[in-house]
Amino acid sequence: MRELPPRLAWLNDELADWNAAGLRRPRRVCTPLPEGRCRLDGKKLCNFAANDYLGLAQDERVREAAIEALRDAGVGSGASALVSGRTPLHERLEAALAAFENQEAAVLFPSGLAANIGVIAALAGPEDVVFCDRFNHASLVDGGRLSGARLRIYRHSDLTGLARSLGKASDARRRWIVTDSVFSMDGDLGPLPELTDLADQYSAGLIVDEAHATGVFGERGRGVAELMGVEHQIDVRIGTLSKALGGLGGFVAGPAELIEYLWNRARTQVYSTALPPAVCAAAMAALEILQSEPERRQRLWALSDQLRQGLMERGIEPYPGSTGPIVPVVLGSPAAAVAAAAQLKDRGYLVGAIRPPTVPQGTARLRISVSAVHREEDVSGLVTAIAEVVGRR
Ligand SMILES: *Cc1c(COP(=O)(O)O)cnc(C)c1O
Repeated sequence: MRELPPRLAWLNDELADWNAAGLRRPRRVCTPLPEGRCRLDGKKLCNFAANDYLGLAQDERVREAAIEALRDAGVGSGASALVSGRTPLHERLEAALAAFENQEAAVLFPSGLAANIGVIAALAGPEDVVFCDRFNHASLVDGGRLSGARLRIYRHSDLTGLARSLGKASDARRRWIVTDSVFSMDGDLGPLPELTDLADQYSAGLIVDEAHATGVFGERGRGVAELMGVEHQIDVRIGTLSKALGGLGGFVAGPAELIEYLWNRARTQVYSTALPPAVCAAAMAALEILQSEPERRQRLWALSDQLRQGLMERGIEPYPGSTGPIVPVVLGSPAAAVAAAAQLKDRGYLVGAIRPPTVPQGTARLRISVSAVHREEDVSGLVTAIAEVVGRR
């Protein structure tokens, strides 16, 4: 390796510290394969570390839609949506997303992360207070910071603490409650009905990130708000095309005025190049499959239940409160999580080892995510492997 420039020498100390604490993450290369598999370090693995819940990232019909759009429209959109990058495919996808969510309109963002940052920074301002669940996705917290609002982090799903905090913010111009609907590292659900009550009581806006819920939760796959019957009580719902929809891009669907406001003011979409048209075509095909094949969602749930059941039969308790395809198994130290993931890899399974700062100290964990394209044998094999690796029955 080349010598570091002297003014960057501090990086060496920093990296060495991370190494010593087991917190340095390798930059690995993983080749996606069909049927919930991937190739890593030359070895074919069953991939339980992706968010492709419905297997649509590799679906033939989705691929074909993208290929056709690539042929017609080329690769890049060439400009931000505001300038000239919003192609007919963007317009059609926005209309399809609005129809799916039973809303008037929708606006696309370069990613779910960009949507979260852009939406909160556009809606909230220095005269406001933003209340964030401690386990919210990093981008929701970053959006709150960027907005210049006072940021209040409340304990995970602590409604009493949140109410107390809301009560102290009556002098603010506006109050915003911000939550994930499915917490991404824990797999549990935000208490949306209770949060809508608090939003009413303290006249706060409620912003919900459905990243892991779209396509997975609710009768029609519209997320936890649909499941809990509170779709009309949520002020702003943010979604992503990158998880169950298998592609890339964030979106907000809502009243026309909200969409118009975000179109003009959300800087992460105003100042960033619009999504490639083929990505929009792929998302549209994926959205159609999500709606026409509810059996994918049912299969995802059946496999998730099989995994939870199998683990519990062997005395391994998934993270309390977790439900659906995200199945976290807390092991404690980063070293324990990394060692367990490495042993699972030897046995043919790729599982995420999630460590601080992504999760709190002492709660490093395996994070297993199931896909509808996994086989029953994949799940039963994983259960056996985990039982061997974490040393229970
Ligand atoms: C993954 C994730 C995002 C970011 O979405 P991308 O489309 O990957 O940028 C936002 N919120 C939550 C809760 C997530 O898990």
